[in-house]
Amino acid sequence: MSFDVINPATEELVRSVELATLAETDAAIARAQAALPAWRAVAPGDRARLLRRFAEAIDADREYLAQLEVTNSGHTIGNARWEAGNARDVVQYYAAAPERLFGRQIPVAGGVNVTFSEPLGVVGVIVPWNFPMPIAAWGFAPALAAGNTVLVKPAELTPLTALRLAELARQAGIPEDVFQVLPGKGSVVGQRFVTHPAVRKVVFTGSTTVGKQIMSGCADQVKRVTLELGGKSANLVFADADLEKAAATAPYGVFDNAGQDCCARSRILVQRSVYDRFMELLEPAVKGVKVGDPGSEDSEMGPLISAAHKEKVASYVPEDAPVAFRGTAPDGPGFWFPPTVLTPSSTQDRSVVEEIFGPVVVVLPFEDEADAVRIANDSEYGLSGSIWTRDVARALRVSRGVEAGNLSVNSHSSVRYWTPFGGFKQSGLGRELGPDAVAAFTETKNVFISTEE
Ligand code: NAD
Repeated sequence: MSFDVINPATEELVRSVELATLAETDAAIARAQAALPAWRAVAPGDRARLLRRFAEAIDADREYLAQLEVTNSGHTIGNARWEAGNARDVVQYYAAAPERLFGRQIPVAGGVNVTFSEPLGVVGVIVPWNFPMPIAAWGFAPALAAGNTVLVKPAELTPLTALRLAELARQAGIPEDVFQVLPGKGSVVGQRFVTHPAVRKVVFTGSTTVGKQIMSGCADQVKRVTLELGGKSANLVFADADLEKAAATAPYGVFDNAGQDCCARSRILVQRSVYDRFMELLEPAVKGVKVGDPGSEDSEMGPLISAAHKEKVASYVPEDAPVAFRGTAPDGPGFWFPPTVLTPSSTQDRSVVEEIFGPVVVVLPFEDEADAVRIANDSEYGLSGSIWTRDVARALRVSRGVEAGNLSVNSHSSVRYWTPFGGFKQSGLGRELGPDAVAAFTETKNVFISTEE
């Protein structure tokens, strides 16, 4: 069976990609398992060198990878270049890990006690369609560094850059069975990662609904799992903030990647005393977002990923929706949707509660700091968020009060490969990136050596 990859900006066929069957998945898992003893035996310095070479190969191929992502996913070329660079950086960063996979020596009576960080075995990484390169790399790079063999299953809609990364890994000298990319259906390949006993960990990024199924499936074998799931993050704007800057940047905090971002600040909460002024400033900022051909250097937002996804996003903006204002989007072919600002009257409205994963944002007023934190936390999600204030003490109080894994003050950044990333509540389990991610791909083994004669 094959899957037709469609360019979301033109609706043209890009390429047909073969989907792995269950038997092919089992064969790939068997090869990954067979490759384990040799890979974990590679000397730390040599494994580090192979990963550095892999990072260099990605770097040399950055423009090709970026153009491929523009065609496959409709990402703007600026974003796609960042994404390819992020994959390179993540591999480069974790290339330092094999030589630093320290154990501990713990004082005991009658001997020496040491710990080892052992690889888990075969790791399955299941990737969504919204950031195909970075999210794959966040899983496979620390897993490989720790001595595991890895299978990556890209999303059906966006397999092309992952397939290219597998070619680059091979060029860099990483053995074929150590790092495999298996395009396929979630219900076939992804599900097999969950049920196959040789896969010892599943790293899943995607919807909360599927994440829950993966978690319960993994429980059967007490299989390790990392989950990066949905979000409905708040952008809190206090009256004392730099309102001009808060309003000018708010569209990019939610409409980046056409809102198909788990960290999208899709609930803007504004202190009531400055609400009207903020909306006056937000309107030109939203209307000024440049939506168009993702391959063009000055585009700031491209199309949605598919016709089905566009329909889902549109369902949040029915005829009688409380639209405050909208930006523009091209006519003609492509899954375009204009940036849209809603001002629902109830905090229980579907548009306020559910993850839309498109360029639709709600704006709601709040009274004071306690009210802001209460509304921000009134969500089953807790992935990221922003806090705009000039009061440092308030910034810290609110940062501690908001139940989310990644917060930024007077900015909208969530992701740096050298800092931890992950969600509270139903936004996930575990952390990726940062100095500790490798530990999530190892088991601690404790060994006591008697020194008695
Ligand atoms: P999805 O859950 O539909 O699919 C994600 C991946 O899981 C795909 O590769 C899919 O094929 C696979 N899959 C589907 N069903 C499966 C099953 N039964 N068993 C195993 N694998 C299965 O999500 P999506 O629509 O591709 O991505 C959008 C979602 O991802 C959003 O909810 C978004 O918030 C979330 N996301 C989260 C993060 C994060 O880091 N927290 C990052 C990006 C995206």
